[in-house]
Amino acid sequence: MAPAMGDKLTVVDHPLVQHKLTLMRRKQTPTGDFRRLLREIGMLLAYEVMRDLPLGSVAIETPVAKTVAPILDGETVCLVSVLRAGSGLVEGMLDVLPTARVGHIGLYRDPETLAAVEYFCKLPEDIHLRRTIVVDPMLATGNTAVAAVQRVKDAGGRNIKLACLLTVPEGLATFAAAHGDVPVFVAAVDERLNEKGYIVPGIGDAGDRLYGTK
Ligand code: URA
Repeated sequence: MAPAMGDKLTVVDHPLVQHKLTLMRRKQTPTGDFRRLLREIGMLLAYEVMRDLPLGSVAIETPVAKTVAPILDGETVCLVSVLRAGSGLVEGMLDVLPTARVGHIGLYRDPETLAAVEYFCKLPEDIHLRRTIVVDPMLATGNTAVAAVQRVKDAGGRNIKLACLLTVPEGLATFAAAHGDVPVFVAAVDERLNEKGYIVPGIGDAGDRLYGTK
């Protein structure tokens, strides 16, 4: 798989995730189903990515007794959607952690060079105080995720993770070379990139399939 990542890589191989991913891969899957499945996988990925969130405790009263119970401080999390397709996964993550703050980074791949070009960036001002999960569904060449995480670091982000749907060994290697400190969570590591920088077998263009633009 990806020796460069070592224990920084988590493949979320839960049967529910793998099943939903297979449905998304099918080229016949309609936009609405694709969107719903990406959102559902976002929820399931969040479960793994947020496994180490710290718990506080709170005194409560159930219908039966007083007790002290664990509670999350959801406001310590920032999700950063790498536009466009990141928003599809972020929606699912927000379903399970609605209090998270959300930043957006707009990057497109130059079709000739495959380099990441930024066209938009809006991050929470206090990102340096938060745990940040950068959400970029397709870690393909790695250029976009490298640029997005660098942007978050430049804004002061310190405790950063990357959540993706799919990747390939070359994308992981590029990402690890630039940000070896950032753990990566993916649903699957596919075979390779094709000559246009698409993941094979992949799902096609994630943004187009999510929004039905092609
Ligand atoms: N971005 C996509 O949307 N799909 C790929 O396969 C690679 C990058």
